[in-house]
Amino acid sequence: MLYVDVILPLPLANRYTYSLPEALEGQVAEGSRVIVPFGRKKFYTALVARIHSDPPAGYEIKDVVEVLDPHPILLPGQFRLWEWIASYYLCTPGDVYKAALPSGMKLESETIVTLNTDYEADIPLSVREQQVLDQLTADPEQCITQLEKHAEPGRNLLPVVNSLLAKGAIHIKEELKRSYKPKTEARVKLGKGFDTEERIRPLFDELARAPKQLALLMKYLELSGFFNNASTLREVSRKELLARADATPAAFTGLAEKGIFETYQYEVGRLDKAHTATIDINPLNEAQQAAFDAITACFREKNVCLLHGVTSSGKTEIYIHLIRRTIEAGRQVLYLLPEIALTTQITERLRRVFGNRIGIYHSKFPDAERVEIWQKQLKPEGHYDIILGVRSSVFLPFHNLGLVIVDEEHETTYKQQDPAPRYHARDTAIVLAGMHGAKVLLGTATPSIDTYHNALAGKYGLVQLGERYKDMQLPDIRIVDIKELARKKMMNGPFSPDLLAEVRRALEQHEQVILFQNRRGFAPMVECRVCGWVPKCKNCDVSLTYHKGLNQMTCHYCGATYDVPHLCPACGSVELVNRGFGTEKIEDHIRAVFPDAKVARMDLDTTRSRSAYERIISDFQSGRTHILIGTQMVSKGLDFDHVSVVGILNADTMLNYPDFRAHERAFQLMAQVAGRAGRRDKRGLVILQTKSPELPVIRQVVANDYRAMYDEQTGERTVFHYPPFCRLIYVYLKHRKEEVAAQAANILAAWIRTAFGERVLGPDKPPVGRVQLLFIKKIVIKLDLGMSGSKVRDYLLTAQQRLLADERFHSLTVYYDVDPM
Ligand code: ADP
Ligand code: ZN
Ligand code: ZN
Repeated sequence: MLYVDVILPLPLANRYTYSLPEALEGQVAEGSRVIVPFGRKKFYTALVARIHSDPPAGYEIKDVVEVLDPHPILLPGQFRLWEWIASYYLCTPGDVYKAALPSGMKLESETIVTLNTDYEADIPLSVREQQVLDQLTADPEQCITQLEKHAEPGRNLLPVVNSLLAKGAIHIKEELKRSYKPKTEARVKLGKGFDTEERIRPLFDELARAPKQLALLMKYLELSGFFNNASTLREVSRKELLARADATPAAFTGLAEKGIFETYQYEVGRLDKAHTATIDINPLNEAQQAAFDAITACFREKNVCLLHGVTSSGKTEIYIHLIRRTIEAGRQVLYLLPEIALTTQITERLRRVFGNRIGIYHSKFPDAERVEIWQKQLKPEGHYDIILGVRSSVFLPFHNLGLVIVDEEHETTYKQQDPAPRYHARDTAIVLAGMHGAKVLLGTATPSIDTYHNALAGKYGLVQLGERYKDMQLPDIRIVDIKELARKKMMNGPFSPDLLAEVRRALEQHEQVILFQNRRGFAPMVECRVCGWVPKCKNCDVSLTYHKGLNQMTCHYCGATYDVPHLCPACGSVELVNRGFGTEKIEDHIRAVFPDAKVARMDLDTTRSRSAYERIISDFQSGRTHILIGTQMVSKGLDFDHVSVVGILNADTMLNYPDFRAHERAFQLMAQVAGRAGRRDKRGLVILQTKSPELPVIRQVVANDYRAMYDEQTGERTVFHYPPFCRLIYVYLKHRKEEVAAQAANILAAWIRTAFGERVLGPDKPPVGRVQLLFIKKIVIKLDLGMSGSKVRDYLLTAQQRLLADERFHSLTVYYDVDPM
């Protein structure tokens, strides 16, 4: 008897073992997907991690129901990466499985109920039973969730379904919904009996009274090459045929009814194939060549190299040269980007050089396309040599990875926040590369302090590129003290007179402007002028953001929306004022000041679809829009040619953020957004508005002095013991009742303290203490760098198990954020 250990798409600590019916033996491999029952009447797609013949003891073993893949859909190394992620980031293999595979490869289960039409009631049915049967008479196949919609609200229908099942009135079937369907198109062929020339000829007369049908038939014969060679016809799609013949579907149906045409489905791929390389690679200039040589020299000794190059120094050109070298050596490249917004520009640049050797992988792509890329990458031949993608592309199969490029390595979007696995794609990519013996290049103008620290310590190589391409100058950064101006009543809304004057000058000279504000929506807060009441989310401990365009209030934590209040519910006053500036309000104001300028806004709200990004960027690139307002999205490596002025509207919101990385992050954002200013022939100008011009980090931005920022921040972090001088693990506990969460957190913190003493802080209420109706407590653990990670993890997981075994805490959620951002 054979058994399989599988990973289920559920947050379970362990693998589960199923027996393999004899009929399925030989059809399954390690890495195949199988369908297994789990829990009550639920079926899941599970992944086979191991096949063996040791019967497990202690529980009843169920059978595998079906094998989906005779061949593995994971390459052997991928399991090892999954295991590393689960163990390092303190989550389950099921969490990793869910994040790794596109949803089309994970089937869902829904119970379908069908009516037994032969059933005759011999004993009276209850009212609810009769209702269900009536519903099923109207529609004889429904899933339980659907039936429940019409039933009495709030009451579980399962017992009713159960009793009907026992009486034989209904059947139940578990139907697995296959959400990935291969894409097909209808193609046309000649019907049986019409596929020879002798049979076709007479039709020309017979169809004389149906000229449209005749014309359509003639077109088909032409397109398929029938008269050239009737035995090897070219395949013709129905759509193409109708279009080329300019015919109606009616004419087609006419021929199909006569049996002259038949249609059949043909599987076509979704991945577009028509990209050919059109240009040669640009030669590197002297500084770039020197950096390139330094990188390749570094790779002889080290696996990871940091390329610290100022904005517009041509880092992307260096990547392109490295990519070419790698694929010429027959190895694959993974090119990671922090954000979908960036893929458009980079894709265009890379496609021009590498044509269809490059595949793009990101979450805004339809799932079916992601499935196809996955399957293409599994093949030993014919896969993409280069994958360009965001975070989740580290999960793709790679046969022979030679190089990973992590562009804008400092970006926090590389870290997944919610749900688990809370992995960092950069760090995961380094582990992935290690498994393949591949090299990693981390590129950025503003390295993360963690990475720079590793480079200075010699763990990573370090290559600097200090000059911009064609000696373009770095922008002139001018500080404007808005506290002083506000006191003198000289501000025009969020704009200083200086900023408006520079924007006006730029527009007059047909140059472009970027305005950066790191808050979306219209106003981050609404407040009653009389009593100070502030509308808050019912589910979270957060004040609501006013979105004027949508005319609603939104919670940025859980997404809940509310009507805009017109009266203060606390005191009845109508004097509700909005405070602060979101991108939407900035847009309103700037349109009022410059009614003739074309203004666009790029933030989460305006870029929900993939095409929206592309349109905003291409409109700005081509000069159709003059002013671009945006959140941190506009800071990320976008390359524009005519931007002469960049306005940073309020540095303080970034600086006051309660996190030890706030100043590092503010420096990075400001330096990056400043880097968008300037043109080939003209130095750019940045207006930096702040209430705290005296802060060192402001000076460091103005001087573009990364090293000064690094030294100052690491100085503070040594004293207060923060990364990179320790490793952080946050432990979160969530519960509907605040007392339960607090009690559990106190117990857990005390246990962890017995092992780690002073290194444990808390429990505390995090800045947002309640999200989606759950109260949150947080324990912080600061681990010394020398400590064994695996011992710590084992200790934490054991403590967690012990805590959850306590009856009081059975509905408590415990999760971890390792290396939090
Ligand atoms: P970075 O990635 O460092 O911000 P880019 O690679 O985007 O810089 O380069 C900035 C601009 O300079 C781009 O428009 C790029 O095409 C151009 N450029 C940089 N290096 C070269 C080169 N060697 N040949 C031609 N154009 C270059
Ligand atoms: Zn009030
Ligand atoms: Zn909320």
